[in-house]
Amino acid sequence: MNQAENLCNFVTEKEVMINVADTMTICLEIDEVPLDMTTGKIIEHTRILDMDRGITVRKLIWESPEGKQIQLDVQRMTSFEQRSLFIIDYKVSALNFDGNIKLISLHRTDVANYSNPDDPRLACESRKNIHLQDWGIEDDSSVAVCETVASGLKLCSAVCNIADWGDALATTDLTIDGSTAVYVSQGELRKGDSVRLTKYSVFSDSRREADVKLAALRDMKRAKVQGTEYFYKAQEDFLSEFWRHCDMEILGDDALNEAVRFNMYQLLQSSASDDKCSIAAKGLSGEGYEGHYFWDSETFILPFFVMTNPQIAKTVLEYRYSTLNKAGENARLMGHTKGVLFPWRTITGTECSGYYVSGGAAYHINADIAYAVVKYYQVTDDRKFIEEKGLELLIETARLWLDVGCYNRDGAFVINQVTGPDEYTCLINNNYYTNCAAKFNMRWAVKLYRELESAGQVVKLRERLHVTEEELREMDKAADAMLLLYDETLGINPQDDSFLSKPMWDLENTPKENFPLLLHYHPLHLYRHQVCKQADTVLAYFMFENEQSKEVMERSFRYYEKVTAHDSSLSSCVFSIVASRLGLMDEAHMYFDDSAKLDLENTQGNTKHGIHTANMGGCYMAIVNGFARVTIDENGLSVAPVLPKGWQGLRFNMMYRNSLIRLEVTEGVTTVELLDGTPLEITLYGNKYILDKQTIKVNY
Ligand code: BGC
Repeated sequence: MNQAENLCNFVTEKEVMINVADTMTICLEIDEVPLDMTTGKIIEHTRILDMDRGITVRKLIWESPEGKQIQLDVQRMTSFEQRSLFIIDYKVSALNFDGNIKLISLHRTDVANYSNPDDPRLACESRKNIHLQDWGIEDDSSVAVCETVASGLKLCSAVCNIADWGDALATTDLTIDGSTAVYVSQGELRKGDSVRLTKYSVFSDSRREADVKLAALRDMKRAKVQGTEYFYKAQEDFLSEFWRHCDMEILGDDALNEAVRFNMYQLLQSSASDDKCSIAAKGLSGEGYEGHYFWDSETFILPFFVMTNPQIAKTVLEYRYSTLNKAGENARLMGHTKGVLFPWRTITGTECSGYYVSGGAAYHINADIAYAVVKYYQVTDDRKFIEEKGLELLIETARLWLDVGCYNRDGAFVINQVTGPDEYTCLINNNYYTNCAAKFNMRWAVKLYRELESAGQVVKLRERLHVTEEELREMDKAADAMLLLYDETLGINPQDDSFLSKPMWDLENTPKENFPLLLHYHPLHLYRHQVCKQADTVLAYFMFENEQSKEVMERSFRYYEKVTAHDSSLSSCVFSIVASRLGLMDEAHMYFDDSAKLDLENTQGNTKHGIHTANMGGCYMAIVNGFARVTIDENGLSVAPVLPKGWQGLRFNMMYRNSLIRLEVTEGVTTVELLDGTPLEITLYGNKYILDKQTIKVNY
């Protein structure tokens, strides 16, 4: 990959999440006539995503042009229990005829990635990223070993088809034809009879396995020995535990309820299962943003897992920890002599953003990760994690701010030439969000260091990282002196030094078809206007709420409402949270509606590029931190729910420390119950309670 104009230390290589072998295709012929939805007659067709069983179910009754009716029942599942396994259960029944049925099941390795050169959110070139190295048939499975074209990583896919024809006469055959393995099973079905094809696919890669082929064969063997019923049951058990931890219901709005549960399910499907990966902006559902991880993972998605399934949250943080060295290298490339700088977009830890202006310059990602570490700690009390990894993440990220920032003539600590969350305003000085986040980062690095120091737990870390007293003092001093901009005339926090002096973009009179603006205007033109792609200062009001009075936050909220295009899916959810916390319930409800149904109803028109995982996490926070006003900080857990108009109630489960609790709000009454775990202290509408076996009920 070449930059058109390559300057010193520009990024010239990028990582891409690639498409692996396609093992999904199954074709069907009825007396030599292919099943084709565009011919014949569709008598019945349903597709269901069953979020309790973790499967998709499709039923089709189709009549061929010759009048032969078949029923197709297809069940597909990617296993949570054995992550490498994908199962298709494909049943064909002859409804009104005796005839020949032919099943053709493919295992294709000639796959490419999708692209659209006109959309910067997709790759600009469509490439074949893998080439076949070795094909074979072993233990009745087609086994393909492929290698990635640029990085030489190995991956293996193995596919095994098992057809059950009952008493019917049938033949089967497996051949390899160029880049495709073709399994054909053919037999005579009598009217009313069925054939069931079970297709197992397993995948392995050399980032996780020393011998990818052996690993795939091992996993395939296990899959066949256990059989499908075992995996269906394991899937259901896994999900029943998942839902127990995040069960949520909005009473009185079924559509919203469905959207919210769909979002949580998608987050689970997108989540990391080991420290080699994180949660991509599109999860695993599409090729938008080329499979990259951004700040979305920690800032928007992690809170859902911290509050419902902390083990997954920890894995996401461990992934960042495992890339600390690369973040160090990135900091050096950017000219910093100390600390680390996490990449804006990445897969294995190297910076993959080719446009540093709104990518690499978004230094706030460092503080976002630090913030996530602190929140994880505050919710779980996992001291061991802080001791082993968390504190190191905090110190190394905090160090960078001392190198990036400096003191101005008035003695304030300033941070110049960075980009905040809003990607329509770039390379500015003293972005309000970034400065708040950096302050938090340094403050907590020192605070947790001192906490562990007094317990004698920093000796090794101090030696390894050469932490000095002077450096800790510098962090405290910079945090104390951090410049948080305030405009006396408007009584708001300007987004940055220059924001308020720019002309306002006329959002009202911008033609609808010109949104998102990024696809219609040159970036520089956008940067020269007061126009925000997404919540920026408003996000700071949620994450760093104690920095301003309610009045300032409300005035600013109103101001930024007028200049925000919400062209990013990370925006409405944040406006909803902050509106709730300011008591602006109608606004909160309106923004929440935009956020909740974004993917289920494809309201941004681009869900085909993949789901918007950050928004899904944001939607969760809009309920829990917004409407229910859950706050978890050094003062513990506090809750003060208020329902928006039209909701009859809200109920959800969440984890705090090692306890599972249920919160239920109906008009005028809030109830909290301890479902599992040890008694805990909780603040409800400002009053402290001990939550034990007894349910707490308060009128509000
Ligand atoms: C947003 C970023 C986000 C990225 C990936 C962009 O549209 O502006 O904040 O990280 O999408 O979701």
